[in-house]
Amino acid sequence: MSDIRMWLEKKLLQLNLTNSMDVPEGFTRLSYTEDEARAHHEFRSIAADLELSTFTDNAGNQWAVWETDSNAPTVAVGSHLDTVHNGGGYDGVAGVLCGLAAVKILKDQHFTPQKNIAIICFASEESARFGVSTIGSKAIAGLLDKEEQAGVTDAEGTTIKDAVNSFGADWDVIEQAEQTKDALESFIELHIEQGTRIENNNADIGIVRGVACPIRLKVTANGMANHTGTTPMHARKDAFAAISPLVSFVEQEAKMVSSTKAIPLVATVSTVKLWPNAMNVIPGKVEFGIDIRSVDDASKHNMVTAITAYSAQIEARTGVEIVIDTLVDNNSVFLAPSIQEKLRQASQNLGFKSLLMDSGAGHDVMNMAMKWPSGLIFIPCEKGISHHPNEHARLEDLQKGTHVIAEYLRKETGEIHGN
Ligand SMILES: [Zn+2]
Repeated sequence: MSDIRMWLEKKLLQLNLTNSMDVPEGFTRLSYTEDEARAHHEFRSIAADLELSTFTDNAGNQWAVWETDSNAPTVAVGSHLDTVHNGGGYDGVAGVLCGLAAVKILKDQHFTPQKNIAIICFASEESARFGVSTIGSKAIAGLLDKEEQAGVTDAEGTTIKDAVNSFGADWDVIEQAEQTKDALESFIELHIEQGTRIENNNADIGIVRGVACPIRLKVTANGMANHTGTTPMHARKDAFAAISPLVSFVEQEAKMVSSTKAIPLVATVSTVKLWPNAMNVIPGKVEFGIDIRSVDDASKHNMVTAITAYSAQIEARTGVEIVIDTLVDNNSVFLAPSIQEKLRQASQNLGFKSLLMDSGAGHDVMNMAMKWPSGLIFIPCEKGISHHPNEHARLEDLQKGTHVIAEYLRKETGEIHGN
């Protein structure tokens, strides 16, 4: 086994705070908990072994910097170490690990970068604890809505503010974690694909063009609750029966759009609530959420138009009032074509087949891309399984990802371009 593969294997365990990746219950390192802090501690320890200088910013993000010249630009690479409940050991970890491993490769080869290289371990990427995702990268990019987020609580009633403070960071000055435009030159993230497109296309590496952001709707159907035994069928306003066809409509429409258009769209109905939800009462009110994603924003909006029109038909036919509220409507994030090209070139130089693709899930890179030219590399993960104890990426693929990052950094920091 090559040096770097053994190193990856060892440090993968270290960052996951484990002796074996075969853990039936998976890994649980929720945002801003002691568990995330312990993983961050291991990150600092590995970075120190690589002779990188480390610091923690006010949002609890960890920085490991290979500084060659404080006046030179900084090229950054990063991902996260927090997980969902009983998640896998690769989502996030892969990017942090491969970033550090790329530095190791360059150092072992006695490469001297002409620019600084920063490996960032973002705090609190997953929304599992607070329902808010990518807190650390939002803070770095200056996108954190401090007022709105301060009071958000977890299931135990702990606020984000208290969690951040007990993590050793400082909520009151969290905005100081923001980096200026000049502080970084560019950013790349490596992440497991959480799908099977790379494998299906016999490719080695995915290079992401766009990250699909959701439109989220809340649909409320207001009927009339009444006795199930005494209310005849013709006199009912059953909210559940009326709204139900919308569930299959959403699925059918999304299938139709995806089979007829070049850019796929996915849509999901979930979070159903029903009142009063009793066997002897006709459902008076039903509420559910619809999550619609595509990198084609027009296609998402067309879907909303179709849902609205179909709901109006239901309303007219049944007399059940249907109200649609938009909870989230974010445009897709497009990553820098120049960086896509550099990553494609790096993969090609190494003899790896790359696939240009889009991401259906959000990542820290979305926030970084708002401020700096950014790129996203995917490596395959077995059967596309993620956020689950069975999540698995092969060492071979971690190694390929590492080499792509190293090759990219070598080109990016090897010489100062211009004047
Ligand atoms: Zn992730």
